[in-house]
Amino acid sequence: MSIIVQKFGGTSVANAEKIARAARRAIKAKLDGHQVVMVVSAMGHTTDELVALARQVNPNPPRREMDMLLTTGEQVSIALMAMAIEAAGHQAISFTGGQVGLITDSAHTKARIRTIDADRIHKELKAGKIVIVAGFQGITSDGAITTLGRGGSDTTAVALAAAIKADACEIYTDVDGVYTTDPRLVPQASKIDQITYDEMLELASLGAGVMHSRSIEFGKKYNVPIHVRSSLTDIEGTMIVAETAGMEEIVVRGVTLKKEIARIVLVGVPNKPGVAAQIFARIAEHNIVVDDIIQNVFDKGQEANIGFTTSLVDFREAQMVCEALAKEMKLRAVETDQNIAKVSIVGIGMKTHTGVASKMFNALAKAKVNIQNISTSEIVVSCLIDAKDAEKALQVLHAAFELDKRGGK
Ligand code: ADP
Ligand code: ASP
Ligand code: MG
Repeated sequence: MSIIVQKFGGTSVANAEKIARAARRAIKAKLDGHQVVMVVSAMGHTTDELVALARQVNPNPPRREMDMLLTTGEQVSIALMAMAIEAAGHQAISFTGGQVGLITDSAHTKARIRTIDADRIHKELKAGKIVIVAGFQGITSDGAITTLGRGGSDTTAVALAAAIKADACEIYTDVDGVYTTDPRLVPQASKIDQITYDEMLELASLGAGVMHSRSIEFGKKYNVPIHVRSSLTDIEGTMIVAETAGMEEIVVRGVTLKKEIARIVLVGVPNKPGVAAQIFARIAEHNIVVDDIIQNVFDKGQEANIGFTTSLVDFREAQMVCEALAKEMKLRAVETDQNIAKVSIVGIGMKTHTGVASKMFNALAKAKVNIQNISTSEIVVSCLIDAKDAEKALQVLHAAFELDKRGGK
């Protein structure tokens, strides 16, 4: 019997009616002869509301307690989903992350999955039940409740699909697939029928909020086909797979925008071996995720400025760490800018096509968007820009690469 994992995001379980609709979808899959595992997110904007509530009580809430608080959202959804399925005359059982042995490391608010106990789920599936698992949460080996980072229910779903050797993983959301860019920001965005794990991983890491990037890492590693689709319709969504037809020909598959990033620059760093290692080792000790690293050398090579970007969530802590470092290393200053955005173009075809980066820079120049830093990899070109230009930059890049026509290919 084939196993299907169906994940429902916040908007897809936002109220009783939507919960019942999601329940019907799972029941239909069961009646079609599949074993069904559902992964559900917190209802609607619950997680955002809990975050806001925490901040009212403490502007800098302890990460462990944040996890304790936010995981309650998913616990509400799983219980209601099980009740909805029972109400429709079918058997269901709900589990928290801890109950299905979803063990993570202890990095509260951004934990990584280590292992999942597949036996517990298989046992309930064999007993004929629809199994409902809380997304976004896990437990450490010594019993502390953790979360996988905002949007992490996707990762629960794909990791579970890999652990229980599911045949498919369906991600039900409020758009009918992955688009060439966020359709809320660029209405001309077009739907992509098929995309590779590599491209989706880059899009997700660079700001395409439709999928949690860790979920794509699991998908790629364990070869789980992922189908991103709408919870409101039956139309086919986007398949995320290892290879797509004609993938080399599509130069740019999508464009992304990442906001809420900040830059921190250590000014006047001695330009000698070991200094960068010392700085970034300290930043890593604090579990701060560093995005781009920017280094400029001055004064005939004697001195450098070493900077990096990080998400606004980690900004305050990163600033404190850098200020302490600057004192110890007797640096001249720590400069910060919290109004940074990053636009990126992503596509496998970039490996074999030339002139892509220059086309990007030209489009930005024409729109009078100043580029503050450039970074590239095999299938990505990214530019740091002023946050005030963010949406304009996204729109001009989408138009420059004619993505309104490309998506379906
Ligand atoms: P869920 O609650 O179902 O997990 P999310 O809000 O996390 O849903 O993700 C869906 C949203 O992602 C869409 O409403 C859309 O605005 C946004 N999004 C950003 N980039 C893209 C993209 N490239 N394609 C589709 N949606 C995108
Ligand atoms: N509820 C969590 C969030 O809003 C996890 C998720 O929805 O994927 O981030
Ligand atoms: Mg999501």
